[in-house]
Amino acid sequence: MKKSRHRKTLLRDLVRQRIQILYQLAVEAAKRGDYEYASRLGGLIRELSSSTRTRIPRRIKRWMCKQCNIPLIPGVTATVRLRRQGKFSYLVIRCRHCGWIHRRPYKKGKGGRSGKLERTGEGGPPREPRRDNRKEGGNEGGPRRDR
Ligand SMILES: [Zn+2]
Repeated sequence: MKKSRHRKTLLRDLVRQRIQILYQLAVEAAKRGDYEYASRLGGLIRELSSSTRTRIPRRIKRWMCKQCNIPLIPGVTATVRLRRQGKFSYLVIRCRHCGWIHRRPYKKGKGGRSGKLERTGEGGPPREPRRDNRKEGGNEGGPRRDR
């Protein structure tokens, strides 16, 4: 079924690296105040991801404006507020450039990093924890070691 998986993951790896570089550049541009360039880079990221059918890494996608594609940097290009409603908290992120408002649930976790907020559907199957069979002489072709 998944014979070409290796090739695809290789391509996607490259694309992801590229996306990360572009995002960095966009962040720098936005910090300089060059929103036009930043949003152009953001547009490139989206184009790249759709043309190669690669998902934008979540931590990047979350911090990009859906409307104008500039990176959302709290305090620089975005205003971030934490709203509470009973048990639930959510983040309200407002793009200062175009005024777009993003809301997303925010779960309080013990000590900073909260667990999975949303489903972890990042495409691709989750990596299975591979059993380390080096210890159990399960390697074929390797030099056989006797105790
Ligand atoms: Zn925006």
